[in-house]
Amino acid sequence: MSGEKLHCPRDGTTLISPEETNTTAFSRHGIFHCPECAGLALHAKAAASAISAEKLEHLHDGFTDQGAPVEISCPFCKIGMRVRDFAFRKLDGTLTELIEIDGCPSCSSFWLDASELQRISPTNELDPSEPSLFPAKTTGAEANTLAIVLEVLFHLPFVLI
Ligand SMILES: [Zn+2]
Ligand SMILES: [Zn+2]
Repeated sequence: MSGEKLHCPRDGTTLISPEETNTTAFSRHGIFHCPECAGLALHAKAAASAISAEKLEHLHDGFTDQGAPVEISCPFCKIGMRVRDFAFRKLDGTLTELIEIDGCPSCSSFWLDASELQRISPTNELDPSEPSLFPAKTTGAEANTLAIVLEVLFHLPFVLI
């Protein structure tokens, strides 16, 4: 993570580092994002906030010897990633829909596809018939919205499925 460029595990695009954005959700949680697919990469060691660093280390435990292998490689250490289903417990006690999170079994990093976070976006949950918050080809704004969704998730307990 020493200034070296990271690449999107899905499409190879150079990821935008948290320092290159002026949005607090990206920098506080050490979130890299892909300007092409709006996927998010994050690493416990890069998180500036203690909440997210602790949460990510805890999430990482679920990937060290569990989870199904997937084709993508860790953007940080290039090891093959694994996937697991997660649900987050909302303030009313109910669980969000399941989302897939890819995790590195070696370093404590994670990859979230934009489509996974979109499925549990609060705006989508309120009224699924509403037009999408995420119109095509606005991936910068989309990644920003998803980073904020992720920031909210950092404050909720999660359940590994
Ligand atoms: Zn991408
Ligand atoms: Zn890794």
